[in-house]
Amino acid sequence: MSGNHAQIAGVSVSLDHWIDGKRVAGADRFATASPIDGSHLADVAAGGQADVDMAVDAANRAFPAWAALGAKGRQPILHGFAKEILARADDLAAVETADNGSLLQGNLHRMVPRAAQNISFFADWALTLLDHKIEHEEVTNNVRYDPAGVAALITPWNAPLMLTTWKVGPALAAGNTVVIKPPEWAPLTCSLLAEIAEKAGLPPGVLNVVQGIGEIAGEALVNHPDLARISFTGSVPTAKIIGQAAARSVTPMSAELGGKSPFIVCADANLDAAAQTVAGQYINAGQVCLAGTRILVEAKIEQEFLAKVRAAVAQMNVGDPRAATTRVGPLIHPEHFARVSGFVDRAKASGAELLWGGSQSDAGALYFQPTMFAGVAPDAEISQQEVFGPVLTWQTFTDDEEAIAVANGTQFGLAGTLFCGNEARAMRIASQVVAGTLWVNCFFVRDLAAPFGGSRVSGIGREGGTWSFDFYSDIKNIAVRKGSFTVGGA
Ligand code: NAD
Repeated sequence: MSGNHAQIAGVSVSLDHWIDGKRVAGADRFATASPIDGSHLADVAAGGQADVDMAVDAANRAFPAWAALGAKGRQPILHGFAKEILARADDLAAVETADNGSLLQGNLHRMVPRAAQNISFFADWALTLLDHKIEHEEVTNNVRYDPAGVAALITPWNAPLMLTTWKVGPALAAGNTVVIKPPEWAPLTCSLLAEIAEKAGLPPGVLNVVQGIGEIAGEALVNHPDLARISFTGSVPTAKIIGQAAARSVTPMSAELGGKSPFIVCADANLDAAAQTVAGQYINAGQVCLAGTRILVEAKIEQEFLAKVRAAVAQMNVGDPRAATTRVGPLIHPEHFARVSGFVDRAKASGAELLWGGSQSDAGALYFQPTMFAGVAPDAEISQQEVFGPVLTWQTFTDDEEAIAVANGTQFGLAGTLFCGNEARAMRIASQVVAGTLWVNCFFVRDLAAPFGGSRVSGIGREGGTWSFDFYSDIKNIAVRKGSFTVGGA
């Protein structure tokens, strides 16, 4: 380590805040460790009220000029930003893996390219679809998507780079400036993102990063009176706290929250593809909000399908996420390991049948075996609560009504997966499952133009395509009486 930098996986990463185009050390520090082996990585700036005030002030000062550039003026800068993200792909992937234990190959080939796309896609979209006219018999409605102001962006640790850029892209493309509060269990790629933004020529104050603990830095940020938007991805309990701050200041808030998504397999489905996809739910140790964690299988194929899933899961190597053959890496933190183990222990104690897994893996302290419970009541804790680990449940159904009722039988509504060979049946089931995204015969395909979000407690609002701009813009109607001007416009 040198100064306020640390060498992480061979990459020099600043540990300070990034405010108004400058590194700011701040008064306090917090430690971040690698889940791969528990080793201490760095002591990162722990922001407080003063840092948040500085960042929001800087973002407010930078806002008028950034907004005035217009979508056309912002587009080349944001494309440069996306290009620089790709140029640093190796560094970003290695640092993300060291910091949160997610698979290196996944970061390199999926998450980093997607982070770049999050920036360039929305820069382009801002040019095409936003301002438009609606004709009425008396007036022409000129609908404008005006920049809103400063957006506070708060993200979780399971995919910080990807989830942060998913917000930064549309927020900046819409003409806002941003203050990012990265997750304290994996804060490092957001620091690199600030460095990359500077290299790409984003003006000072347009993108700010305040590192720190959620209950301190995050709390100060969401309670700041000068925000125009709060965009949050994380857990339901935190959303309830942030929602109170948003309500006090009447600041629009979007929330992408947890899930307990169903994975329905019909008898006529491609069972090999379905089995591989079930095994894929263990990737990143199941620390994936969208994971289909409740496997619902049509009873008449239960044994045949179980054999296929068992064989596919046997291929899910648990181990170091930097190894190309690893599919299941570590859990993020000892506290989270204890939480996941607690769910498993209580499920065992309540009589659930363990089909496989159920305890720590011999790969290391934070590694947990892919686990499957059968014989679980639909209202059992393990069927109802988000574990956010490599723990699935196995249930059967005899008709579609039962499958739909069980699928919809939790407080969540984030996503769902359905494998089915009959189009009419598939669309009937899919249309009745409560979820923001329902994948049919596929999983995790995310088109940036499509709406994304959660129903019920899984979220507020939708992101993606136009929906992102609906949130990050102040939409204004200039209603002009037809034929009322004596002098025309330019
Ligand atoms: P979390 O809610 O504990 O933390 C998320 C972020 O909020 C962190 O940056 C944290 O520092 C911050 N925070 C915590 N308390 C705060 C407060 N009082 N005020 C302001 N900020 C505060 O969630 P987590 O454990 O980091 O992430 C896991 C959760 O995120 C799971 O429920 C998962 O399903 C969900 N998630 C959802 C999506 C989605 O797109 N729907 C994606 C990824 C993760």
